[in-house]
Amino acid sequence: MSARILVVDDVPANVKLLEARLSAEYFDVMTASNGTEALALARRAECDIILLDVMMPDMDGFEVCRRIKTDPATHHIPVVMVTALDSPADRNRGLEAGADDFLTKPVSDIVLIARVRSLTRLKMMTDELRMRAITSLEIGMQAPERSAVADTGKGGRILLVDDRESSYERLATILAAEHTVDVEPNPTEALFHAAEGNYDLLIVSLDLNNFDGLRLCSQARSLERTRHVPILAIAEAENSTRLLRGLEIGVNDYLLRPIDKTELLARARTQIRRRRYTDHLRDNVQNSIEMAITDALTGLHNRRYMESHLATLAEQASTRGKPLALMILDIDYFKSINDNYGHDAGDDVLREFAVRVRKSIRGIDLACRYGGEEFVIVMPETDLHVAGMVAERLRRSIAGEPFAVHKGTKRIEVTISIGLTTLEQKGEAVADVLKRADTALYRAKHDGRNRVVSQAA
Ligand code: GH3
Ligand code: MG
Ligand code: MG
Repeated sequence: MSARILVVDDVPANVKLLEARLSAEYFDVMTASNGTEALALARRAECDIILLDVMMPDMDGFEVCRRIKTDPATHHIPVVMVTALDSPADRNRGLEAGADDFLTKPVSDIVLIARVRSLTRLKMMTDELRMRAITSLEIGMQAPERSAVADTGKGGRILLVDDRESSYERLATILAAEHTVDVEPNPTEALFHAAEGNYDLLIVSLDLNNFDGLRLCSQARSLERTRHVPILAIAEAENSTRLLRGLEIGVNDYLLRPIDKTELLARARTQIRRRRYTDHLRDNVQNSIEMAITDALTGLHNRRYMESHLATLAEQASTRGKPLALMILDIDYFKSINDNYGHDAGDDVLREFAVRVRKSIRGIDLACRYGGEEFVIVMPETDLHVAGMVAERLRRSIAGEPFAVHKGTKRIEVTISIGLTTLEQKGEAVADVLKRADTALYRAKHDGRNRVVSQAA
């Protein structure tokens, strides 16, 4: 899929030039000749990256950028400021406005394409996460957009990898004004240090003694623990081949020496803010996955998850020739607990019941809430005899200790009935196993409750 680049410039010739270069690299290009038009296009989510001219009549590029970055609908779109003036003051104004990068006119082809490519990759990743996180929004979780827009990018944890004392002392002092900084002067230790430290940003000097800083960047990208930590590279001078290589292997941004204090702080903040935002999105996705397979009241797996997973467990047991036990547990006279003590007390009982179930089973056993006050436990590599002992222990752990309800002010006796069976070896359908366990449960109820009934296959 090719990215859509929005080129914003009030001079038609400039627009044409950038449009031609980007189109030649198969990017989709759209154009706007002023800030208002650009903001409208960005809000309609029609572009992936914005190349923004600084000097425009009416609204200048800084103001357009500031508006893009403070609007929850558009703050995640990377903005590259294209400027004729390469003064530190201008760069800093742009960075303060939230710009992700700068290009100086006349724009070099290699740098233009490399920056746009690297930002495209980042944008695609964020989009993917945003899309998946929408599911969690639908089930009522906090939108990460609001906190992302409010995030100052300060208070981050930074690891600075630089082996020159005069350099790292100055950089660390500057950064310490806004962040917690650790310095690692030994490049061979840096990767371990980074993997252990839970950092928000790695700053890596590319001019290390006897060590290739780019190699370190690429290792950090392939290691699970550091894969998502942004990298800001520091280079001695414009060595475009090496910098481009860096951007290709996943360096997020770079600075050239001598390093301007304000620019260093601004670029660090941008990376840290973005890191927090994507982390937040990733957490949301993780949560929504967990929510989809978990019962909210008890924290046990839900029925949907059990049904899909049970088929896998049954198949494994069949092919490996191992036994598989399954029990259905049902709380006795649960309706009267609700009737006598209220629905909240019933919920308390269900929660505490789940706690006791978890204590009685192994990590490889699968426990789920099958229905209102009905639960299923699947035990791999367990025969009917052993499962019978587990079931009996479980039954006693419920009947032996009254359940606290109403914040511990009342204690009530609870019992359960259990129907137990095992899978037949030759690929029996799981529905039949469940049915047999249910029949056993019915007998346990019929025979007087508070008991375990086993039914051999
Ligand atoms: P038996 O011994 O035959 O199992 O009787 P029982 O009362 O436990 O069985 P029945 O199926 O008649 O009633 C189950 C009750 O469980 C009815 C339903 O209102 C209640 N229930 C289902 N889900 C929940 C829940 O999430 N919270 C509470 N408090 N009650 C629930
Ligand atoms: Mg019941
Ligand atoms: Mg029931």
